[in-house]
Amino acid sequence: MDGESKLVERVARAFRLRTGASHTSALRLGIGDDAAILSSGGKKDWVLSCDAFLEGVHFLTDRHPADSVGFKSLVRAASDLAAMGATPRFFLLTLAIPVRRTGTWLGEFLRGMARAARSMKMTLAGGDTTKSNAVSISITVVGEIAGGRAVTRAGARPGDLIYVSGTLGRAQLGLDLLVHGNVSGKNRRGVSAKDRAIEGLLCPHLYPSTKLELGAWLARHRVASAMMDISDGLSTDLTRLCTASGVGAQIQSAAIPVVVLPAALSKCRGRLKFHPLQMALHGGEDYELLFTVSPRNAKKLHAAPGFKHLTQIGKVTRGKDIVLINSKAGKSRLKPQGWDPFGS
Ligand SMILES: [Mg+2]
Repeated sequence: MDGESKLVERVARAFRLRTGASHTSALRLGIGDDAAILSSGGKKDWVLSCDAFLEGVHFLTDRHPADSVGFKSLVRAASDLAAMGATPRFFLLTLAIPVRRTGTWLGEFLRGMARAARSMKMTLAGGDTTKSNAVSISITVVGEIAGGRAVTRAGARPGDLIYVSGTLGRAQLGLDLLVHGNVSGKNRRGVSAKDRAIEGLLCPHLYPSTKLELGAWLARHRVASAMMDISDGLSTDLTRLCTASGVGAQIQSAAIPVVVLPAALSKCRGRLKFHPLQMALHGGEDYELLFTVSPRNAKKLHAAPGFKHLTQIGKVTRGKDIVLINSKAGKSRLKPQGWDPFGS
């Protein structure tokens, strides 16, 4: 188990004795999945999650444009709603900020967050503000879904097919270029073809998008048996999904849709070592969806939004092992090596 999952377990244990009271019956799903599910017994369920985005841990104010910090902090919170198949509706923003950031920086930050809110049709419902030594953003998101339709991490069964959306490792490449390459996330108003190409490579890291439409479709049509978003890297998140479902997995490394670096950009790589498969396996913040589908339901996927960007990467197996199959290197165990704030 990765360090963050252990810490979550400890938090859950501290409160476990208190659950089971009558007022908790509205809590359909509690701690441990991408989001919690509340039901009042009506036709819809409410889906809730919160997410922290901290200066010095998740972003650097000298590298990341303020509007990217605002945009991304809301998108990454909403991604946990996409992971359940829910449609985002409201959010609460807690903002702790140094006084020196309350001028231009805050203006840009809010502009970026408002753009993300518009694109996902989310309404700010409240929050809190206070002073701090570093920028600290905490966002609670609320989504809705038809009663009983939310997809958890726990439904994968042996024989199910494992899918991912999009291309993996793009956000890690953008981060590596920003931190180690000869590029900047700021003042990127470049006009040359190379500038535009670099901007395109940084975009998945600075301004990610969620797979809300796909998640909602998979839930509505009951096509996915288990689902989560890939926020900490495929190796870590697939391990979490398998643990929740009590299953193992076999992944074909050649099938994984890995990020590609255009040859013309070799000059901005700096000292960056570029391993597409490693970035795809362990790179975080792609916010793509990882989901499982029974063989019987696989045909229905053709009607899914963005079907041509979906890739089957392997199969759910009995047991607990997660095995990576490489045509040259053979079989190896895939260990969780994604983003882990409490990892060694
Ligand atoms: Mg998640």
